[in-house]
Amino acid sequence: MITIEDVTTGAHYAGLVDLPIVVHSSLRSFGCVEGGADTVIDGLLELGCTVVVPTFTYDFRLQPPCGQRLARNGWRYDDTLLGMRSDVFSPARNYISPEMGVIPSALLRRPNRTRSSHPANSMAALGPLANEIIDTQTYLDVYGPFQKVAELGGKFVLMGVGLTSLTAIHLAEKLSGRELFRRWAKGTTGELIEIAVGSCSGGFDSLNDSIEPIESTVIVGDSCWRVLPAELALCRFTDAISREPAITHCKSPKCQRCPDAIAGGPILAEARG
Ligand SMILES: [Zn+2]
Repeated sequence: MITIEDVTTGAHYAGLVDLPIVVHSSLRSFGCVEGGADTVIDGLLELGCTVVVPTFTYDFRLQPPCGQRLARNGWRYDDTLLGMRSDVFSPARNYISPEMGVIPSALLRRPNRTRSSHPANSMAALGPLANEIIDTQTYLDVYGPFQKVAELGGKFVLMGVGLTSLTAIHLAEKLSGRELFRRWAKGTTGELIEIAVGSCSGGFDSLNDSIEPIESTVIVGDSCWRVLPAELALCRFTDAISREPAITHCKSPKCQRCPDAIAGGPILAEARG
């Protein structure tokens, strides 16, 4: 049975003391955790960490407004959007897409957490730097919080998951010169807004070699934590993608997003007005 002391000890070994960290996790990877997801969060907070998690919601999307069907945007516009919600996203609520996992869900339920208002790619945080980090996100600067964590000397932590879960690689795609895909959703007051979102992450395991020299690992229970210094990791991913753009391709011949992202992403000047 994993206890809060095990989490704190692991995080201490991983050098996470007093740092902002972006956590991607599989609670199941730990084995049995006494107290569940909240124990992992508490163990990190106890060390002075600011814990940042993605709290994405994939079902608030809408069709683009007239004249905004951007080319190379990783989207077959004529496909019907199925299963979308009719209400408006609110950061005050705790709704999150189930595939985000139980640790982000548990963090969202904390009364003192901060959450951003991006209707598809919101992030939430707890800890001393939570507001400073979360406030950097806008509808179009969707990965501002990762850049802030990097500036503050923070780390990306993968708890029992691989690089296909590391959302910050989408920031590296942007830093390598790609435009992020555009989608549309209702803003918090119900108006139609344009938002930036990430592409397909199915091929990100191909970037493992680029971070091997800067990665450290710690075992907590059955979970292997991979710890990356954020700033350095972003540099390494950006360099690898710049050198070989096709490295991010998921290899699925049916993928709509990978070819468009690799070609540079949406053409923003076209189809406007
Ligand atoms: Zn793909």
